[in-house]
Amino acid sequence: PKRIFTFRRGAADRTADASEALGLKGANLALLASLDVPVPPGFTLATSVWREVQSGGDGLPQELRADLRMAIEWLEGVTGRGFDGDTRPLLLAVRTSARAQMPGLAESVLDVGLNDRTVDILAAELDDPAFAYRSYRRFIESYAHLVLAVDPAEFEDIADAEAAEAGWTEEPGDRAGWRALIARYQTYLDAEIGAVVPQTPLEQLSAVIEAAYATWRSPLATSHRLIQGIPENAGLAITAHAMIFNEHDHNSGTGRAVSRDLTTGESRLSGEFGLVAPRAREIGEKPPVLDLGTLSAGDAERFPADMAELTEHVRRIEAHVGDVVEVDFMVGDGELFLMQSRVARRTAGEAIRIAVQFVDEGLIDEAEAILRIDPNSLDELLHPTFERTSDLVVLGRGMPASPGAATGEIVFTSERAQELANEERPVILVRNETYPEDIHGMHVAEGVLTIRGGTTSHAAVVARGIGRPCVTGAGALRINAGTATLHAAGKVLREGDTITIDGTSGEVIEGAVPLLRPALTGDFATLMDYADRARRMRVRANTETPIEARSARAFGAEGIGLCRTEHMFFEGDRVRSMREMILASDETGRRAALEKLLPIQRSDFTELFEIMAGLPVTIRLLDPPLHEFLPQSDGEIAETASMLGVDESVVRQRIAALQEFNPMLGHRGCRLAISYPEIVETQARAIFEAAIDAGEKAGEAVVPEIMVPLVSLRKELDFVKGRIDKVAALVMDERGCEITYSVGTMIELPRAIVRADTIAEIADFFSFGTNDLTQTVYGISRDDAGNFLSTYVRQGIIERDPFQTIDVEGVGELIALAVEKARRTRPDISLGVCGEQGGDPASIAFFEQTGLDYVSCSPFRVPIARLAAAQATI
Ligand code: PEP
Ligand code: MG
Repeated sequence: PKRIFTFRRGAADRTADASEALGLKGANLALLASLDVPVPPGFTLATSVWREVQSGGDGLPQELRADLRMAIEWLEGVTGRGFDGDTRPLLLAVRTSARAQMPGLAESVLDVGLNDRTVDILAAELDDPAFAYRSYRRFIESYAHLVLAVDPAEFEDIADAEAAEAGWTEEPGDRAGWRALIARYQTYLDAEIGAVVPQTPLEQLSAVIEAAYATWRSPLATSHRLIQGIPENAGLAITAHAMIFNEHDHNSGTGRAVSRDLTTGESRLSGEFGLVAPRAREIGEKPPVLDLGTLSAGDAERFPADMAELTEHVRRIEAHVGDVVEVDFMVGDGELFLMQSRVARRTAGEAIRIAVQFVDEGLIDEAEAILRIDPNSLDELLHPTFERTSDLVVLGRGMPASPGAATGEIVFTSERAQELANEERPVILVRNETYPEDIHGMHVAEGVLTIRGGTTSHAAVVARGIGRPCVTGAGALRINAGTATLHAAGKVLREGDTITIDGTSGEVIEGAVPLLRPALTGDFATLMDYADRARRMRVRANTETPIEARSARAFGAEGIGLCRTEHMFFEGDRVRSMREMILASDETGRRAALEKLLPIQRSDFTELFEIMAGLPVTIRLLDPPLHEFLPQSDGEIAETASMLGVDESVVRQRIAALQEFNPMLGHRGCRLAISYPEIVETQARAIFEAAIDAGEKAGEAVVPEIMVPLVSLRKELDFVKGRIDKVAALVMDERGCEITYSVGTMIELPRAIVRADTIAEIADFFSFGTNDLTQTVYGISRDDAGNFLSTYVRQGIIERDPFQTIDVEGVGELIALAVEKARRTRPDISLGVCGEQGGDPASIAFFEQTGLDYVSCSPFRVPIARLAAAQATI
């Protein structure tokens, strides 16, 4: 097989699997050469050579040496220079070229080919002995470092000693001084290492290649491959090309050009060019870095090569790649060389700008633009951010648990959060960790900070769900509950002091920082238009509050896929009526308490229907176990007892009676509805009356969707639907009008999957509750999973947390089964998903494949889901 691949402007040895055979740099140089842009001529040793060397004995095989000699001869011919020649010495830059960026590999060795003789020939050629010797010195240092494992600091000491003896400061002043320094280097190597830098260029090259190969096995490179999943035997390519004298004083330098202005998308070079220092001094540029954007085509005074030519080359590469490119280039004595190109890195905002611009220019189509944006990257655009100024006081850091920045007064309890929020004061809820009873505190807070917990802790999951910025596990901070103080970075903060948290970076910052609100217009909106045209699945939001419902619509939600009614009872006075209902001793008592909740529910639903203006709204009946609403602390228990005029012991008894070992598998969902049908009846009444009210106001009928949670038996649904239908008939009779509505169920238990065909007989729609479904299929508690699933991921037992990304093989297979069964019974059944995974791009791809009709996710994830749903169809 071919070992060595040559390249020069206009011609490169081709290979089909370029980046695997030649590595990134080698493949890229070959590409640039074939695009007829100026590159330094050279050759690449393919990765197969690395494998050959590994399997062989010591040193480089004879055949390879022979090939190397041939490649050198070719290069001598192309450059008109000679390796160890008597005039115009050929010098090489030798670089490792792996198929992916990889730390731990050998750094470039420059000026291979210099020796005691060629250094003087080069000095004569360039009429610059200092430059030639400077290069030689650098070559010896990097050769010794790579091949002989000499610490570069040793050479600093030697140079210091020589400088002191010979009386120079920065570098020797004449040839004799340079020779003395070089001799001293070699003497040291000989004495300490028992080896010197060889004088024969070919030997230098062989030794550098061999040593560079060895760095493939460096611990850093090895662990990087492990993490990135790059095979151990992928192997290393090595590229050698003719040196460019880009550091020679006159008309030389190094630069980086980007084919566009990334912020405007305008097609004009940006980037910079660094002049060699003496040249910069000469033309009075300080600092000697030129902004390419300020250079005009004819600015030969400042830019030593031809700007128009550079622009033309970069354009050609951009056109070939079909994306904005960044190009490294060098100028050596006025001659331009392109060294490397890559797709330019950009922020999410820039990526969108560029994608839209490319569509406008007809360079790519909408589908391609959709595919170019990582849906998850939109997250950074959808949340408030702030500018990183140098005067920010960082109090500590934790996990970036839910993105976005938030500013507010510190509060340590959810009650206090509620009180301040009632006064419209923004708060940050600071807790060691959060519990279900903190949900109302989290709802009213601008952001949440916890001292303990990771990115799947209760705080993190809830915060993401309701779109609150959240930092978890800020372990260096300490809460003193007794004094209600927060101790951080040697400071003591009190309740009411202002802090800012950044849930995107995990930072906790003292004081208020001006926040930048996301803009969903312009290019962002255009990209969303592309996505909306391309996608098949609808995207709804999980929300129950008016504020979030409005933001969901602003984010493009096409309805509400899950309104968790229990969340509507945690706030303010409502929880009192709820407690009254739960603590009631009989049905009459419960009905009385429910009477108080009815108008509250009705007005909540009316508002949601109005905001959603004709879009579908799925309202789920009460789901969690009742004990979640009951007071926990002694103080709260006493308060509840006195409010209800009952003895404290009554409250305690009821709490004890409702206690469950496995609340998640306990008395919740439709089980609650079956035990206490009056709850369903009240909720159904509230929904129907709200639908009529909102419909009358809008002049257009509202069609509510009522969803029954946690069904496993068809008969459960029969029972609950029976109650709903009965109430519907009653309300229609009372109000003298027709109501169209649908009743469906969540599919979130394995039994419901298996019986999906019979359940579908009476369900108008299914919404897969992938949170509970994952919990019950795995038998893993969704509230405790964070403690051990991260270990599973680390150990490679599972690839991803199944509570974040759908487990296609297990849970996914079951969903597909239920879809098939349901459609067999009822071909027109509406099918959606409303678990956390509904907003996860990888899961969305699966839901598209499975043929679901819609996904529903938290409002902030709606644009992400719209884009991901579009990608899934392309
Ligand atoms: C689910 O289980 O996936 C779901 C959406 O319901 P909840 O998270 O409220 O249990
Ligand atoms: Mg559920």
